[in-house]
Amino acid sequence: MRYGIDLDGVCFDFLNPFRIHLNEKFGSDLEEEDITEYNWYKNTDKFDKDDFFREFHKFGKAGAYRNFEIIPGAIDALEKIVNAGHEIFYITNRPAYTKQDTVDIMEEHKLPHRENLFYANGDKAPIVNDLNIDVFVDDSSRILGNLVENTGVKIYCMHFTHNRDVEHERITRIKDWDDFLLAEAL
Ligand SMILES: [Mg+2]
Repeated sequence: MRYGIDLDGVCFDFLNPFRIHLNEKFGSDLEEEDITEYNWYKNTDKFDKDDFFREFHKFGKAGAYRNFEIIPGAIDALEKIVNAGHEIFYITNRPAYTKQDTVDIMEEHKLPHRENLFYANGDKAPIVNDLNIDVFVDDSSRILGNLVENTGVKIYCMHFTHNRDVEHERITRIKDWDDFLLAEAL
């Protein structure tokens, strides 16, 4: 089988370093569970949409993507997928300027099949279809909805407060990578 895997929120912890960055920059006090929206400027009045995206790009261009922590259990689970004879494809919506940082951090942590890295530029469905992906793991409510609408893949939603309302018969919610391994019998 062919597994499609998102990077941020699935393999790497983007949310906490960027949350802390915004709190320091704007004096907000957002905790992880306060973030109920994928675009979290809606969760505070300390910064607005323009502030949010300006800081998002500054944060990324300053090399933040090179230093994220691995989500617990990710490497073990990815290795189990490969050891069971399957293929992995990483499909991310990271901005294009993060490419070298992404290659470097994937190399540092030895993500299996890391040469299969694809930048989606907003819409993952065409890449998922082109690559004949069977199973996809993501955390973005927008992407998950898009995969339901435009692909036939089996879908896993990595649980966060910001995606708690995502619910669909084709989407299986997992709280962590152990849940995924159980569900996939790996
Ligand atoms: Mg993500």
